[in-house]
Amino acid sequence: MSKRIKIFDTSLRDGEQSPGCTMNLKEKIVLAKQLERLNVDIIEAGFAIASPGDFESVKTVAEEIKNCSVASLARALEKDIDKAWEALKHAASPRIHTFIATSDIHMKYKLKMEPDAVLERAVNMVKYAKKYCSDIEFSAEDASRTNLDFLTRVVTEVIKAGATTVNIPDTVGYTTPEEYFSIIKHLKDNVPNIDKADISVHCHNDLGMAVANSLSAVRAGATQVECTINGIGERAGNAALEEVVMALNTRPDFFKAETRIVTTEIMKSSKLLSSITGVSVQPNKAIVGENAFAHESGIHQHGMLAERTTYEIMTPESVGLSKTNMVLGKHSGRHAFKDRLESLGFSLEQEELDSAFEQFKVLLDKKKKIYDKDLEAIVRKESISSPEAISLVNFVINSGSSITSTAVVKLERDGKVKEKVATGDGPIDAAYNAINKIVNLDFTLDDFSLDAVTEGNDSQGEATVKISSDGKSFTGRGLSTDIVESSIKAYLDAINKMIDQEA
Ligand SMILES: [Zn+2]
Repeated sequence: MSKRIKIFDTSLRDGEQSPGCTMNLKEKIVLAKQLERLNVDIIEAGFAIASPGDFESVKTVAEEIKNCSVASLARALEKDIDKAWEALKHAASPRIHTFIATSDIHMKYKLKMEPDAVLERAVNMVKYAKKYCSDIEFSAEDASRTNLDFLTRVVTEVIKAGATTVNIPDTVGYTTPEEYFSIIKHLKDNVPNIDKADISVHCHNDLGMAVANSLSAVRAGATQVECTINGIGERAGNAALEEVVMALNTRPDFFKAETRIVTTEIMKSSKLLSSITGVSVQPNKAIVGENAFAHESGIHQHGMLAERTTYEIMTPESVGLSKTNMVLGKHSGRHAFKDRLESLGFSLEQEELDSAFEQFKVLLDKKKKIYDKDLEAIVRKESISSPEAISLVNFVINSGSSITSTAVVKLERDGKVKEKVATGDGPIDAAYNAINKIVNLDFTLDDFSLDAVTEGNDSQGEATVKISSDGKSFTGRGLSTDIVESSIKAYLDAINKMIDQEA
């Protein structure tokens, strides 16, 4: 019989904690809604006490999401648990996730507490959280390096105190599949009340084994896996959701386990996250990499033509990767546009739809064939862009191999139009210098990248820009068939995010 594995997504908490992956409130809501379509069981929305911004995002996600449980992290402290509950109380299905470290090294150097005191705190805080809510997860931080007898005691006692999920994290990415299997198996065999809670696993990828460790734990009896889209997370990241899910999905004969994930939403979730964070996945990344389903060698192609399953263990369609197809052209109206978006799984608010349709019409003038990927890029851009405090009116660039690049940029802010001229090392640098002269704000440009949305030389360029100010980082995106224009738009989008955040 196949057992049900719960998928606990922590992209918004552990993932967001990783360098370069910070998200603003709007981006977190958009991602949370996509996670709801993906049908994860639990969304960990943040760490409510960490900052007012974290609190606000947990609260808003909790209020907006209806079909998944929403969790907030909390240290095993009353004030953390109070704050978590305050953020979660309007959730359809709230979960408080409290944790304390149980390994000797963490107890001695970080907590400076004796094991018995740690155990007592864990039990008391689970009981404390239980007063607020029935769904309580307890994590024994650094469990994989914890003395097994002590871990067994802690797990037994927190379940007795009311924990409904016990998480056994490999916090530092240290364990191996066989070792982790035996830890989970030991708990299954030695915790007398283990059938009253889900065993959860949370693996980090420091040695590249996060997914393998998670799957091994499932074999040993774990019924919840904590993971992130694209495997983002602290240091080398967390177990990648798409890999865990597709492994279970592709090998039911072996794992005898299933999830409720709508796998056809995987690709869209991955792209959305990359777009939000500006961090793309490597081309050979399992499941969601650009080449994950590409068969290049002649022998493989020959086999595939005769029978797909000769070299294909899962179909691209199963993860939501559709064939590149021309969908819309000059004569497509608003209705066709909306229909196509809906069939791609996007449902936009009227305002977003209007704005996306405007962009689509602009694109039609510049590009003969419009593909699904173009539409997806437009919608992603629309759904996560910030209000435009500053907008682009127009620009002129003069550039070449033997002259200094010069840019004239005209921007509008609060109804006032300003224009500046600047030179630079290439057209984009010149344009950015002109913008800097107009906006006159203090920030640094940290990263810039440009990707083609589709193949072909009339493809849209999707520019991503990261800027930072006061230790905070802002990601902007711009989309155009003209790469200088998309670069300018991305720069302005990042600046607008910074202004929005300061307002
Ligand atoms: Zn973690």
